[in-house]
Amino acid sequence: MTSATDRPPRPHFTNPVRWLLPVVLVLFFLAVLIWLPWQARQMESSERQEQLIADTLWVEQTIRFQLGRHEEAMRTLSGEIAAGHLSPKQLHARLVQLLQTGHEIRRVMWVLPDGSVAATSDPATAPSAQSGLGPHSRAAAEHARLARKPIYSQPELLPGASKPGLDYHYPVYSGERYLGTLVAHYSLATVLDELVPWWFAQDNQITLLDRDDKVLARRSAAGAGHGVYTHKRALDLPGTSVTLLTDSVKSEPRLLPNLLVGSVIVLSLALLWSLLALWGHISRRLAAEGALRQQMTFRTAMENSLVTGLRARDLEGRVTYVNPAFCQIVGYPPEELIGKLPPMPYWAPEVMSEYQHRFAEVLAGNVTPQFETIFQRATGERVPVLIFEAPLVDNNGKQTGWMGSILDISDRKRIEELNRQQEQKLQTSARLATMGELASMLAHELNQPLAAISSYTTGALNVMQRAEDTGQPLDGGLLRPALQQAGAQAQRAGQIIRSVHQFVKKRAPERREVAVQSLLDGIEALIELQARQSYVALQADIPAALPLVLADRVMIEQVLLNLTRNGIEAMAQVPPERRLLRVRASHDAAAAQVMVEVIDQGHGIPDDVAERLFAPFFSTKAEGMGMGLSICRTAIEFHGGTLVHKANPAGGTIFAFTLPAAGAH
Ligand code: ADP
Repeated sequence: MTSATDRPPRPHFTNPVRWLLPVVLVLFFLAVLIWLPWQARQMESSERQEQLIADTLWVEQTIRFQLGRHEEAMRTLSGEIAAGHLSPKQLHARLVQLLQTGHEIRRVMWVLPDGSVAATSDPATAPSAQSGLGPHSRAAAEHARLARKPIYSQPELLPGASKPGLDYHYPVYSGERYLGTLVAHYSLATVLDELVPWWFAQDNQITLLDRDDKVLARRSAAGAGHGVYTHKRALDLPGTSVTLLTDSVKSEPRLLPNLLVGSVIVLSLALLWSLLALWGHISRRLAAEGALRQQMTFRTAMENSLVTGLRARDLEGRVTYVNPAFCQIVGYPPEELIGKLPPMPYWAPEVMSEYQHRFAEVLAGNVTPQFETIFQRATGERVPVLIFEAPLVDNNGKQTGWMGSILDISDRKRIEELNRQQEQKLQTSARLATMGELASMLAHELNQPLAAISSYTTGALNVMQRAEDTGQPLDGGLLRPALQQAGAQAQRAGQIIRSVHQFVKKRAPERREVAVQSLLDGIEALIELQARQSYVALQADIPAALPLVLADRVMIEQVLLNLTRNGIEAMAQVPPERRLLRVRASHDAAAAQVMVEVIDQGHGIPDDVAERLFAPFFSTKAEGMGMGLSICRTAIEFHGGTLVHKANPAGGTIFAFTLPAAGAH
């Protein structure tokens, strides 16, 4: 009942915001997890790119530096030429010497203002005049002369050469006088081969492009570039535009072999899996909680609706729980009971010692499972109660105390008392009823012997009257049998009174072993008396081998008399030739019974009569008492047999009763 007031809090999961926050956090976490490797990849590629730029710059500087050195050598040589103290042989030697400063210079020529080649480092291949140079080179030579500045020509494929090259024109003036031009021819392919360090060529494809981005020379020692990391850098050469293009052979950092990406994927999957598992777990928990809560409310409702008081005690006898019904029985609120140790407020002083004793037993672990006692209400009123005690066991199977259910049995006690009084009254009225029954039975049963006595005495009186009238002496031979019969009937009446009296007092009948034939013999005269009056033929069919029956002779004779009289009366209206009354007996060995049937061919029994046949005082006859069949059935059942009736196939009715065969008991 305490648990009924503090209801469990509603689960938090019903609030969507509570769900939203963890979901958003998890999604954010996943996003960061995915972003991180992507970012790492980006950083890696930009690092590579930057590295490539730096390397390209470095290469460009190297080329530029080497070309600068050549320019410097040419300037020195031009100075010497302008000074004019170089013999042709010396000039040739200096030109050849220039070649040795680098393989990229293929040829150096000294061209006079008239266009003729005065000296060359390579007389075998050099043209004899400036006109043998390519168009770009010639234009550059002209340009250099006019500008008085050394310049490079646009790269071009010289006739007879396999790869494009360019010329460096250095005009030599002595004061205002133009002396000629020094022309150095560079092979661009050799520039790449010689000036680009091998380690750089190992990682990159290096290309020289002209101003139209046409490839002039290319070095790809480690294969073609992937076009992912590229950098273009113009070579700073006066008079021409040559661009250095580097293209790394490295492709983008690959995603999957990347350990980070792999672990992120694995981690994310693991996280998702554990989230799903957690989700499932929580759902199961919630379902279980829901079921539990339902159980709780169900249990609480049940406890509150119980009329049986419930009280739980721990092993020390302290009350740990009471339900409303218990509080109602003892009349104390729960807070005055819970936590209390004996003696309890509801213990009545007069039975205190009994409580104490029983409580000591409880502490010793011997509990009386069921007992009756008295509680005292807060008002002082006493309540009789019935208590059932059972051990209280926790979910580990350990006993934690005792649970008692207490029934307020005041109502039951009241009803018991009422019942007792009722019983007494019933017994009194039953006795009165028995007296009535006795009276009616006697009246019914005595009818026959009294009628017989009256007809015998009338007969005797007639005989006496006849003697008086005729003056003849009295004939004792006629008178005696009538008087004897009357005497016998008077005795029979006495017997009837005794046996009916015994029967009504429900004493054990005087059962003897008798033959059915002898029962019939005992009343045959009476039956025949009636039968003759109604012109009914009598036919007995009793097998000689029939076993004896255990019966009270007088009672069974009365039964037979009643049944035969009913049969005879039922045939009063049928044609005389059909008026046959049969008494038939048979033995049912299996049931150890003898069956006696009284068979008439009378008017039979309609259904509505059959229903009430055995009811006392039911009769269809004007002067009938309606007690006969009721008495017969009681008498037969008293012997342990049954009385039934059925229609006679030949017309009329068969009444059949059974009696236990002697020796069966
Ligand atoms: P009573 O003979 O005084 O009427 P019973 O209890 O002996 O009382 O019989 C009750 C009724 O059962 C009779 O009134 C009669 O209608 C019916 N009854 C009894 N025996 C027979 C029978 N053999 N054939 C037809 N009706 C019968």
